[in-house]
Amino acid sequence: MKVTVTVIKADIGSIGGHTRPSDELIASVKKFVREAQDSGLIIDSYVGYAGDDIHIVMSHTKGVNNNEIHKMAWDAFSKSVPVAKEQGLYGAGQDLLVDSFSGNVRGMGPGVAEMEFDERPNEAFVVFAADKTEPGAFNYPLFSMFCDIKSNTGLLINPSLAKGVKFTVMDVMKNRVVELETWSQVPEIAAILMYPGRYVVESVKTKTGEPIVSATTDRLHNIKGTYVGKDDPAMIIRLQKTFPATEEACYAFKDAHFVAGNTRGSHHMTLMPVKINTTATTYFCNPLVSALLFSMHNGKLTGPIDGFEGPNWDVVRRRAAEKSEDMRAQGFVHPATLIPEELEYNEGYQEIMNRIENLFKNRG
Ligand SMILES: [Mg+2]
Repeated sequence: MKVTVTVIKADIGSIGGHTRPSDELIASVKKFVREAQDSGLIIDSYVGYAGDDIHIVMSHTKGVNNNEIHKMAWDAFSKSVPVAKEQGLYGAGQDLLVDSFSGNVRGMGPGVAEMEFDERPNEAFVVFAADKTEPGAFNYPLFSMFCDIKSNTGLLINPSLAKGVKFTVMDVMKNRVVELETWSQVPEIAAILMYPGRYVVESVKTKTGEPIVSATTDRLHNIKGTYVGKDDPAMIIRLQKTFPATEEACYAFKDAHFVAGNTRGSHHMTLMPVKINTTATTYFCNPLVSALLFSMHNGKLTGPIDGFEGPNWDVVRRRAAEKSEDMRAQGFVHPATLIPEELEYNEGYQEIMNRIENLFKNRG
């Protein structure tokens, strides 16, 4: 049976700042998704959140980029905005950038990750949902997962992964993509993933074209033409058998690497693996990522269970917090802050620099 898994996510408001959506807001989104499920449009669904972002995980048979599926998600978000406004939630409707839906939710604000495949008898997949960061935050773990044998022994042991995979990487500034494959082009993959602010992994497939990874690659400042906010990413990864084992996929996040984002979308801190449905931390908005593990049969979902639960991940969380503290100790000095072009809100900085500009004197 051919099944499509679609994840559509958006920030449509949260309590007391950019923290988490209210229970009433989540209930409203769930109600619209439930109606779509009852009508037979989708087979199954799950609605949850990572910090201030709500994600809708859906299974259906309509294929990718389907108008009805995208419209349903758009409606679930847009028709819930009045709830956010009624409660005075911060950033109510902020990720919905157009007034009305037309054709496809891509480019309208919400992030989309989706893939269609022949369902295996025991289909397993993970949804990674992140907050307070940018799409390129997944570059480092995806390189670890598919290109670094020291990090993932599965690349040596599993015959399918050992053959290599095909990456599709997006240049978010020029809205173009490039296909690169392991193992012959590992230096090219490393070089392009080196700058996550510009180049972002869109998908990974086997050499025979089976989808393994699909990630959200929309970047909001390119949608409206101005920088209106970093797009917190989500991605789907199929697991087990010819794909990465569950523990190989989750383990790729064990380094708590530094990513762009956090407070005012203008700093570098670690990407902390957290439990499902975690509120964004007020510790300078440390970036976070959660792992939702699902099983699926005939499109029916079982789960999610929490991929970042347990004592090992408590240790990683502690290390992530300590690394972030070290970075914050140098305050405003780059690389604690982003370069000017990457600052999400740089008007204040620009005003000061304009004043300084007039004070400069040429030498000689
Ligand atoms: Mg967010």
